[in-house]
Amino acid sequence: MLSSHLLPQIGSYVNGRWRTNATGETLPVYNPATGEILAEINSLGGKETTEAVESGAVAMRRPSSPDQRRNWLRTLAAEMLTNRDELGRIITLEQGKPLAEGVAEVDYAASYFTYFADQLAALEPLPLAEHARNCDWTVMHRPAGVAGVITPWNFPLAMLTKKLGAAIGAGCAVVAKPSELTPLSSIALWTLVERLDMPPGLLNLVVGEPIPIGTVLCQHPAIRVLSFTGSTETGRILIQETAKYVKRLALELGGNAPFVVFDDADVGNAVEALVANKFRAGGQTCVCANRVYVQQQVAGAFVDALAQRVARLRVGNGIEPDTDIGPLINRAAFDKVDRHVRDAIAKGAKRIVGHDPERPKHEWGGYYPATLLTGITPEMELCQEETFGPVISLSEFSDEEAVIDACNSTIYGLAAYVFTRDQARAQRLISRLAFGHVGLNTGTGPSAHAPFGGMKQSGFGREGGLEGLLEFCEVQTVAAASTA
Ligand code: ADP
Repeated sequence: MLSSHLLPQIGSYVNGRWRTNATGETLPVYNPATGEILAEINSLGGKETTEAVESGAVAMRRPSSPDQRRNWLRTLAAEMLTNRDELGRIITLEQGKPLAEGVAEVDYAASYFTYFADQLAALEPLPLAEHARNCDWTVMHRPAGVAGVITPWNFPLAMLTKKLGAAIGAGCAVVAKPSELTPLSSIALWTLVERLDMPPGLLNLVVGEPIPIGTVLCQHPAIRVLSFTGSTETGRILIQETAKYVKRLALELGGNAPFVVFDDADVGNAVEALVANKFRAGGQTCVCANRVYVQQQVAGAFVDALAQRVARLRVGNGIEPDTDIGPLINRAAFDKVDRHVRDAIAKGAKRIVGHDPERPKHEWGGYYPATLLTGITPEMELCQEETFGPVISLSEFSDEEAVIDACNSTIYGLAAYVFTRDQARAQRLISRLAFGHVGLNTGTGPSAHAPFGGMKQSGFGREGGLEGLLEFCEVQTVAAASTA
């Protein structure tokens, strides 16, 4: 069992207090590196979620001032950084990623609180210069209402703070549901929330099975905005479930990122960028390269350099200092990666690095070796779906036009990466890539100051940037009869 000074209570937080469910139902949280049960958490359902939503609606009757909200955001960011090592350890224990990545996630997560604290001036009333119809016109940004927030397990803290920071900044109350696989870092964050001088009901955390909680978040009339990060399948369910109630949705869904390397690219830089991008969180990120396209003339040199680099990566328990890649989150994740690799090899792909992994003996997870496959063709499963594991799938291309078509030949449109020294080509290509985030000569993912989100079936709405803050605001236009 996990013991931490940030987890004096392990449960849900509703209406300003730690809340348990009288039925005594629990859900176990596993360490994916060892199979150990870290905690058995009392599991809340629809009744307590309704209570949380209604306490949020009550809390919003007395709006907070921008100064209060700025102060809450800054205090939370500072507290997170004071506790970064312990928060990072909790992330690693429940999620599996290497400790350095767990700690880096804390910095990244806190940066959203800091960024939104700095942006609140953008929500001040905006008087318009025109005086049409003999009126003074002012644009107001009102909090949208109680916000439902549903987050995944790959960045258990950062995916939460992106939404939570914007919701606090906008003045919304929140009911947050973390992934049932990784709720402990969210609970630790609420230990810090509890210390704030904040009205009860403003920030609620509900831990439990997805459907009873999700149903209330979709159906309760006080929830006016639902912000979700997760799979496209679940995103479609949320669209259907909320349609009847006409709620605002912000959906950050799956990806199938292309990573394109042209002949004129700096090969060393492209290799390093791919390794950093691909193996973060063991390849379990929605922005990681899923399809690597390398132009023929440089393909040999690129594969040789990449193979040497990938072969050095060490797979192991994330808590150990020399681990580069942790375990996959659970057995289902392992089985999917394994299925994709077997399918590709059966259809003619070549395994350059990696070996047949030992099948996990338990339900809780499994280690997948860092793998490099070449000779990938479009009909292979790993080209069509997100693999979500430490596997690089590489194919060669000759022609710019063909590679644009290949990149866009997916229902997804989240992230893409282009490596070339030719600026004209880069701009030509990027303008035709239907992806919400494009890295040029870098494999970097999102940052708090810039809007991030998907095109096509990767979702809609943005996180980070001013756009991320506005997801939680309603625009109200006030036309006041001119007194002049
Ligand atoms: P993944 O496949 O990455 O686990 P999911 O979409 O299943 O992605 O999960 C992302 C988040 O959505 C998690 O918090 C999960 O509990 C939640 N979730 C899954 N199914 C539903 C649902 N039907 N309604 C609401 N939330 C759900």
